[in-house]
Amino acid sequence: MRMKGQLDELRNHLATVQDLTAASYLLSWDQQTYMPEGAVELRSEQLATLSRLTHEQAVAPALGRLLDQLGGQFDPDSEEGALVRVAQRDFDRDTKLPTALVGELSRVTALAEAAWGTAREKRSWKLFAPHLERILELKREAAAHYGYQDHPFDALLDVNEPGATKAQLEGLFAELKRELVPLVKAVAAQAQQEDPPRDAPLRNAYDEARQLVFGREVVTRFGFDWSRGRQDRSRHPFCSATGPDDVRLTTRVDPDWLSPALFASLHEAGHGLYEQGIEGRFQRSPLAGGCSLGVHESQSRLWENLVGRSRGFWEYFFPRLRRLFRRTLDHVDLEDFYRAINAVAPSFIRVEADELTYNLHVLLRFEIELALLEGSLSVAEVPAAWNAKMEEYLGLTPADDAEGALQDVHWSAGLVAYFPTYTLGNVLSVQLFDAAVAAHPEIPGDIACGRFSRLLAWLREHVHRHGRRFEPQELVRRATGRPLETGPYLAYLKSKYGELYALD
Ligand code: ZN
Repeated sequence: MRMKGQLDELRNHLATVQDLTAASYLLSWDQQTYMPEGAVELRSEQLATLSRLTHEQAVAPALGRLLDQLGGQFDPDSEEGALVRVAQRDFDRDTKLPTALVGELSRVTALAEAAWGTAREKRSWKLFAPHLERILELKREAAAHYGYQDHPFDALLDVNEPGATKAQLEGLFAELKRELVPLVKAVAAQAQQEDPPRDAPLRNAYDEARQLVFGREVVTRFGFDWSRGRQDRSRHPFCSATGPDDVRLTTRVDPDWLSPALFASLHEAGHGLYEQGIEGRFQRSPLAGGCSLGVHESQSRLWENLVGRSRGFWEYFFPRLRRLFRRTLDHVDLEDFYRAINAVAPSFIRVEADELTYNLHVLLRFEIELALLEGSLSVAEVPAAWNAKMEEYLGLTPADDAEGALQDVHWSAGLVAYFPTYTLGNVLSVQLFDAAVAAHPEIPGDIACGRFSRLLAWLREHVHRHGRRFEPQELVRRATGRPLETGPYLAYLKSKYGELYALD
């Protein structure tokens, strides 16, 4: 009876933390969608207050005592066991760093983000370098407080991707690099000879309202539940969920380019389907969330790429798209369109990269971050190292640092050991899709008929409903019977792009 009382107390306390966090999410969502411009300062005060209240609850000694009392009391495979483990994990993350370090990190990153903006505008790494030095010092300190065995990177990575290690990522990236660098070279050699480039049909006049109608139709077909979610517009697309019953997607629209709205809608819907699929009874508990950043990204990539860039999908949807954009797509056939949305072109900017070159952008950042944390590379040497790797992996040399080492906001925000989760998501998306198709060979045929319920049901059963109940490695093993592996992903890329670019 005593344990039951303590468990109820724990649940109540955690629900308070979740509610406060949810309020912050909604205020941030509003800030990026509908908030009047003039409210910026007021909103930042409101968010600061909420974040202070949330933190107080998240590190409350009473919560620590409850976790001490309940630790080890439940079967680790039970839901209660998972709840206590996940709550303990969050509690450790929030309490292990001294308050002074947390304060210093937020002060330093606020300055660094501003400095990064200026540095990028002036295309000058020097203006940003001292800020990154300081961030790395603090990150090394943070890693020491979290604790690690082999490498400070492990401690920082574990916050984003529980259980993943530098050693595991090194193995994974070595496999990707060996296969992808020559594949990209072969494809790029073909692509360079094409005139006009094969993605030309996408860059044309596309009515904004019709783009939104089409995206919404696809997302509805995927199975997104509009009674528990919505879609709005924002400058940067995102998905924000306060629980399975309230999932907000955003998208952006370019009237002269079809890709941004279309693929952002599919991508964010993938995140949203995951959130909506989490067990309803996990709502207002820390189990109601994605298993990790990598697993979350596997869901967005699966719907965006494995489904939304497949030939079958467009066999069904292209005629509908053509009806909406009759004039623009009049002389484009299904095959042209399929080639356009899968065009490969090595480029400088990660966020614009195609499916094939994307992971090489991540690999480059991973290698540089490791060297920086170890001290084998100085901050001043980053642009030179960056450009050399760009040349080696993608055959390109940035004209300046805005096109190179200054392109991403992440480091200035203190996000170190974060980029690799994108690649983990890509790799896992194919492994999960293959497992779903192995269980239900009808899935590709379904997709070609605009039917997704069988695929969604498989994902719900093996991934979505569990929320944070299992750690990523265990979730992957349960869902696919295997550890995370690059084989299926590389086979997918080689077969798809080998055909698209007529390689031997
Ligand atoms: Zn994403």
